[in-house]
Amino acid sequence: MTAWTNWAGTATAHPQRVHRPRSDAELAETVTRIAVDGRTVRPRGSGHSFSHIAATDSDAIDLSAWTGIVAADTGTGRVTVRAGTTLRALNADLDRLGLAMTNLGDIDAQTIAGAISTGTHGTGARYGGISTQVAELELVLADGSVTRCSSRRRPDLFAAARVGLGALGVISTVTLMCEPAFALDAREYPAPLGQVLEGFDESAADNDHFEFYWFPYGSKALVKCNNRLPVGSTTAPLSRFRQLVDYEVVENAAFGALCRIGRAVPRSVRPLGRAASSVLSARAYSDVSYRVFVTHRAVRFVESEFAVPREALHGVLAELRALVPKLHDPVAFPVEVRVAAADDIWLSTAYRRDTAYVAVHQFVGMPYRKYFAEFAAIAGAAGGRPHWGKMHDLDAVSLRERYPRFDDFLRVRKEVDPTGVFTNDYLDRVLGPAG
Ligand SMILES: Cc1cc2nc3c(=O)[nH]c(=O)nc-3n(C[C@H](O)[C@H](O)[C@H](O)COP(=O)(O)OP(=O)(O)OC[C@H]3O[C@@H](n4cnc5c(N)ncnc54)[C@H](O)[C@@H]3O)c2cc1C
Repeated sequence: MTAWTNWAGTATAHPQRVHRPRSDAELAETVTRIAVDGRTVRPRGSGHSFSHIAATDSDAIDLSAWTGIVAADTGTGRVTVRAGTTLRALNADLDRLGLAMTNLGDIDAQTIAGAISTGTHGTGARYGGISTQVAELELVLADGSVTRCSSRRRPDLFAAARVGLGALGVISTVTLMCEPAFALDAREYPAPLGQVLEGFDESAADNDHFEFYWFPYGSKALVKCNNRLPVGSTTAPLSRFRQLVDYEVVENAAFGALCRIGRAVPRSVRPLGRAASSVLSARAYSDVSYRVFVTHRAVRFVESEFAVPREALHGVLAELRALVPKLHDPVAFPVEVRVAAADDIWLSTAYRRDTAYVAVHQFVGMPYRKYFAEFAAIAGAAGGRPHWGKMHDLDAVSLRERYPRFDDFLRVRKEVDPTGVFTNDYLDRVLGPAG
């Protein structure tokens, strides 16, 4: 038995067996054996989900030996990659090929299969989450068979498996539509929250990748606008020294120290939050896309995120702003707001609606349950859909109401995994028991 815990320490498990396949054939053989023996199995990525989605006390499949690019067409941007490849490795490999992912989230530690399975996203009103870049998937199903799906081949399986929660099979390879490498111009600046909210629609429309962080107890938000530069533009990256100061010293070491003080002396959180909000500073630079999208997060936190219809954002934030000062326990981490374009993936949080994402966080070890529960109620009243990899308490009954194709997903699940080989407690809760 090998103990497993996720990045945030919010989920632990003791799998009976951990399998580490090194080939397609080994992967298929592993799944077949587990199914024949009547056990269950979870494929796992880098353990960066906050929820229990990857946890199992039965069999786990670790894909860290199943990595790398299998095929790449630099003309079309079509790239096939093994499921266990981390986004960090993928970004570097793509860059060497003169290619890049269209959009990315905040970090690059996730595996490509883990990222798409929970609907991982970045920001950008004209851009979808990572799963929208998927052109084809190869999966090992519960009976050990290997299948491929795309918009033409097994389209229902494709619509389900692009954000499949690891419930339909083990993704073996992911084929992505990438684009020629590009650079981003990054502008970050503090601004009064009221002003940011007033100009929100315009900013989301005018920038390729727009987001902001609101620091509870302060009056200011930190705005981030990343825009694509024309091909061939010269970039002005942050110097190594500035990176060290900004990311490692200010964002990680100093912020981490503030959080630790706040955890030890909770009454200091509100004044510290106000102080942090007032010393936010501006910065401008440009760099290769993935170096701008991705940041290093060393300070551990817990997180819940809901996707709400874009037009509901102002109401949701107004209620959240009213809630935070009333909470008994203070909030040490900022609220992050992002946007995404509607897509057609059945369990995508942006399914058929232009979306605003609101993410609430708390420093590890500080009380968060009441905060997250009240936030979930606010977002839920606006039809909010929880990120599958982040913390929430919803079950299949309430999720069915929020996903028009929920029953189609269950139909596909029943077809490809009729006995629940891939289930765990989390899936039993959010999808209902398999079979
Ligand atoms: C610091 C931090 C920052 C984050 N930033 C963002 C962000 O900016 N945007 C965002 O949307 N999310 C973000 N997340 C959430 C994160 O992207 C997701 O939870 C993601 O799923 C984690 O990927 P992973 O490789 O760690 O997968 P895991 O958490 O290990 O697994 C996630 C799911 O994928 C399934 N899975 C893994 N491999 C396979 C496979 N081969 N076949 C089928 N299913 C598989 C697992 O069974 C599980 O259901 C962040 C998380 C952290 C900790």
